[in-house]
Amino acid sequence: MPFIIDAHQDLAYNALTFGRDYLLSASEIRQLEKDTPTPQRTGHSLLGWADYQRAQIAVIFGTLFLAPRRYQAGSWESQVFSEPAEARKLYEKQLTYYRRLSDEHPDKFRLIYNQADLRQVLEPWEKNPAVLPSANSPETEPQETVTHPVGIVLLMEGAEGIQAPEEMEEWWDLGVRIAGPVWAGTRFCGGTIEPGDFYREGYALLEVMGSRGYTLDISHMNEASALQALDRYNGPVFASHANARALLKDVEGERHLTDTVIRRLIERDGVMGVIPFNRFLRPSWSNSDDRQLVTLHTLAAHIDHICQLAGDARHAGLGTDFDGGFGWPAVPYEINTIADLQKLSSILSEYGYPDDDIRDILSGNWRRHLERTLPET
Ligand SMILES: [Zn+2]
Repeated sequence: MPFIIDAHQDLAYNALTFGRDYLLSASEIRQLEKDTPTPQRTGHSLLGWADYQRAQIAVIFGTLFLAPRRYQAGSWESQVFSEPAEARKLYEKQLTYYRRLSDEHPDKFRLIYNQADLRQVLEPWEKNPAVLPSANSPETEPQETVTHPVGIVLLMEGAEGIQAPEEMEEWWDLGVRIAGPVWAGTRFCGGTIEPGDFYREGYALLEVMGSRGYTLDISHMNEASALQALDRYNGPVFASHANARALLKDVEGERHLTDTVIRRLIERDGVMGVIPFNRFLRPSWSNSDDRQLVTLHTLAAHIDHICQLAGDARHAGLGTDFDGGFGWPAVPYEINTIADLQKLSSILSEYGYPDDDIRDILSGNWRRHLERTLPET
């Protein structure tokens, strides 16, 4: 069972908004939230540390994510901002959340800042898979428990807290290694909710990011801003979480990548993480629909589409965005928690992908990217 690298998870946002404790398992989180409004607001949790172990999740890209106040979903949503100064304070809180997770529970989570950290996190996963007794039948066949720390690479999603482009230098020093300038639409560039091009300040931001070695995440850009960014940015690029627009009939908006953008990304040796969120796989989907309408085959079709455009399996990956604004039941039929992601292997193998390609899709492509882009120390 190959380990997995998941390029997009909003752990800090969820922990600070809903009080989710990711040291617990998804089923424990669900139990605690049973009589609360949280499942209505964001769905049932799909992950927790035990589920990472069962899923063989070795590394995640953990986001610093905030929503502009004009998109606040309700008064309960705390991670929203009106001004960059307010956003900065919230980003700092989210950064503190990840640091505490890593400092206080080094057996469970480790922040990854550089190549040495990456090697240290991956080594035990390469030697032995994690083994945890099944959540459903803990009594049967007592097995030896093997667990490994999960690595976290910090990803700033939206750059909303940035007042001046030079601040990206400080965030690099604080440990952020990946950033996207937009979520809804910012003064840097148009996004998937608010259209627009790249603006002067956006280009200045790209310049600072490139000089420090950031990976540019083009998720949440629209087609125009993504193409402009790909033209201009001289550093590494990828899309941490987006699906293929060509497969989404009648989809509105620009949240998903056109084949033109995907091809450009591939030319730059970028990787694209697909999202197992039902509305991003079948736009008309609602939680009252039959869950069998969207399966891991539907997700695999997006992976296959990227691989067909590339002519190889070196540019597709996973960016689940799990617990990021949706949860169970809004995920493919086979998924109860993130542990079920491993079922994707057999589906890709039905598509004809050999084991090496499957390993690349589950983790190898993101790994190669990290090995190419993280600083040595
Ligand atoms: Zn997002």
